[in-house]
Amino acid sequence: MEVVRTVSDLRTARAHLGGRVGFVPTMGALHEGHLALVKAAKGASDAVVVSIFVNPLQFGPHEDLTSYPRSEDADLAAAEGEGADLVFIPESEEMYPAGSSSRVTVGPLGGRLEGAARPGHFDGVATVVARLFNLVQPDIAYFGQKDAQQVAVVKQIVRDLGWPLAVDVRPTVRADDGLALSSRNVYLSTTERRQATSLWRALQAGATAILAGAGPGDAERSMLEVLGAAGGVDVEYARAVDPGTFGGWDGSGEVLLVVAAKVGRTRLIDNLPVYRDRQ
Ligand code: AMP
Repeated sequence: MEVVRTVSDLRTARAHLGGRVGFVPTMGALHEGHLALVKAAKGASDAVVVSIFVNPLQFGPHEDLTSYPRSEDADLAAAEGEGADLVFIPESEEMYPAGSSSRVTVGPLGGRLEGAARPGHFDGVATVVARLFNLVQPDIAYFGQKDAQQVAVVKQIVRDLGWPLAVDVRPTVRADDGLALSSRNVYLSTTERRQATSLWRALQAGATAILAGAGPGDAERSMLEVLGAAGGVDVEYARAVDPGTFGGWDGSGEVLLVVAAKVGRTRLIDNLPVYRDRQ
């Protein structure tokens, strides 16, 4: 496995990769959710590129950019263990050299839910993804369902800007108690860790309601009830939305249940797709 830190070394290493290239962009602090993406890439590509970059553009001024968990040595060992061929770990100045100011803006999708809660977040995501896609030139890029709105944003920019690549979305990897794996879970105390399982329980309650014929309002109330009962969970939103637009769900076909909440000082998100007409 080759590790590169500069754009110029990445270009050189990329030029030596033959066949189909799978790409897994991450912010590091790798866990089984990330590694499932690397595994999937390994199974479907001739070469796998992983990037590790804590992208400052997607953090708001009062968010956890400086304290975001970093574990480079363990990440490199884990990526190598899954068979990654090339890891790109740039410094911020390498990705955004002095004077760089262009941004990719995604439109209405980028302003809803997560975008409303974290202004500028999805423009930051879209900008770094565009920069990485241009550098890595993957045939397939792998993303996790865990960040469902990010997936929708990436698909939108791939369509709008015309990259010749496939976006492969992999299911959310969870702990035994249902909590979605996240690099931010390390911030949780033992009590908070227990309270945090309410996000998954809320999504399941919402899904049960939808499958029993409930509309979005009732599904949202079921989710809020579970989150409220957990104690210590400060809900930002619990919604039943259209999975493509993140706007309102019209009551038929696929619906995406999405939740965001603060448990202590840690902000967590989770989601669950539900297919009413197929079940
Ligand atoms: P991050 O490092 O948090 O930016 O995540 C990098 C990629 O891993 C994104 O595509 C995430 O959606 C994905 N990911 C993060 N957590 C999980 C999880 N629990 N299951 C599956 N994919 C995940």
